Amino acid sequence: MMESKVKIVRINEKLPISFPQNGAAGKTGSWRLYRPIVDNNKCTKCFLCELYCPGNVIETRKDGIQIELDYCKGCGICAKVCPQKAIEMVPETVEVKIA
Ligand code: SF4
Ligand code: SF4
Repeated sequence: MMESKVKIVRINEKLPISFPQNGAAGKTGSWRLYRPIVDNNKCTKCFLCELYCPGNVIETRKDGIQIELDYCKGCGICAKVCPQKAIEMVPETVEVKIA
C-alpha cells in the first residue's frame, strides 16, 4: 500500500513560518540583490504581501506597509502577489568607498 504524502497539521503544531533573525554570517538582508519599494499611495492594505512573505518581514500598518529590510532577502514574492502592483523590485546598490 502506498504511503500518503499529505501531512495533516494540527493548529497547535509548529508551522513552517520563519521569523526575521540573523544567519551564520549576520543579518540575512545582506543576501538581497533586489529591494522592494512600496508605493503606499497605491496600497490598499489588503495584507496579502504580509501573508505571503516567506521571511515574515512585512508589517501592515494604518499608514501603509513597512518592510524590515535588515532581514528581507529580496525574493520578490510580495511584488508578485500584490493586486495593486504597489511593490516594485529594484536592483540593490552597494556603496563602495575608494580610499
Ligand atoms: S522581497 Fe518581499 S516577500 Fe521577499 S522577503 Fe522581502 S519583503 Fe518578504
Ligand atoms: S499586497 Fe499590495 S496592496 Fe496589499 S498590503 Fe501589500 S502592498 Fe498593499
